[in-house]
Amino acid sequence: MYQVVLVRYGEIALKGQNRRLFEQALIANIRRGLEGLAPRQIRRVAGRVLVPLAGDWEEVEKRLAAVCGIVSFSPARVVPSEPEAIERAGLEEMAAVMAPGATFKVEARRADKTFPLTSPELSRRVGAFVLRRLPELRVDVHHPTHRLMIEVRPEGSYVYTRVCSGTGGLPVGVSGRGILLLSGGIDSPVAGYFAARRGVALLPLHFYSFPFTSERSKEKVIDLCRILARYAGEIDLYIAHFTRVQQAIVEQCPEELRITVMRRMMMRVATRLAEAVGALAIFTGESLGQVASQTMESLAVIGAVTDKPILRPLIGLDKAEIVEYARRIETYPISIRPYEDCCTLFVPAHPATRPRREKVEAAEARLPVETLVGECMERLEMVRVPPRWY
Ligand code: ATP
Ligand code: MG
Repeated sequence: MYQVVLVRYGEIALKGQNRRLFEQALIANIRRGLEGLAPRQIRRVAGRVLVPLAGDWEEVEKRLAAVCGIVSFSPARVVPSEPEAIERAGLEEMAAVMAPGATFKVEARRADKTFPLTSPELSRRVGAFVLRRLPELRVDVHHPTHRLMIEVRPEGSYVYTRVCSGTGGLPVGVSGRGILLLSGGIDSPVAGYFAARRGVALLPLHFYSFPFTSERSKEKVIDLCRILARYAGEIDLYIAHFTRVQQAIVEQCPEELRITVMRRMMMRVATRLAEAVGALAIFTGESLGQVASQTMESLAVIGAVTDKPILRPLIGLDKAEIVEYARRIETYPISIRPYEDCCTLFVPAHPATRPRREKVEAAEARLPVETLVGECMERLEMVRVPPRWY
């Protein structure tokens, strides 16, 4: 007998001829997620991925729970597909989880039709075997505290009691690359999580305005990437120096249009970066109507400067819902650290909520747009950020 983690995936099984590519990407994501923890022999058998279990289960559990594309997973005992071996594994499994008042139910599934017993026969037989040896245990078929699950397959049988939830979605990489406009706020890391969950390889881009924003605000964004990398894998974070752009905007543009012009400058730089790295879309943490720059009129004027699709995973979420996700994915405590954002410094008292495109374009005509964008691109920094698991 040895132990494995039985990994289940959903949607990706439906993708026809792409299925193999998807499965390979899932295995690569698992391998990367378990870096330093698991042996390399990750295998695929009939709609499941098998990961040899090595090291500390709690750590493995935490890491697998973050791998995009996994629906659920179970640590399982693997035995030859023979009734006696399955009985013994069932007993060991139940003995390991036994607690006062425990009840159980056996759920056997026979995928191997050459196996001599039907699924109900096997369930009854294993149930009786376990009960004889653990007399304090009771059967409860309606509300058991434990389900003893058995999958009989040609290559072996899997016996387990736990089903852990995965992140779901698609393995990172299968949807291509995307630029994530990542501020130090609450929203954009959550947007990045949703993009990664749909298979996007994230390339975060952060605009940084030293000395108006401090070194610590850069650290904050790096720390956010360390958390995002749990889902997205090691991340290449791009940092754009935005001080000159912001100064030019403050000097040249009417106060109420500053935010709009600044966002358009961000989009231009993001578009150039997307072209340089082969990214297909730009992701932001915007949510409709949340602030002045997130009305439909603003989004239209901001989006007009790029031909890349701007994708906004949070568009229909309320702030409270976004905060809830931020807590769940553990970016929240970092996002609320009190360091200044480059935008907050330039926020006018009354930003235009319905900026008109002609007015914005007239204001921008006073800026050396191409030169400013070019300078940002030349001074772009890249920081490689591995996941951090505390
Ligand atoms: P967040 O919590 O993501 O900062 P927010 O509600 O504070 O969002 P804004 O500050 O209006 O919203 O920013 C809207 C979006 O613009 C952000 O979600 C992010 O995608 C992008 N953005 C804002 N500031 C920056 C920055 N300094 N660098 C990169 N992207 C930014
Ligand atoms: Mg913000």
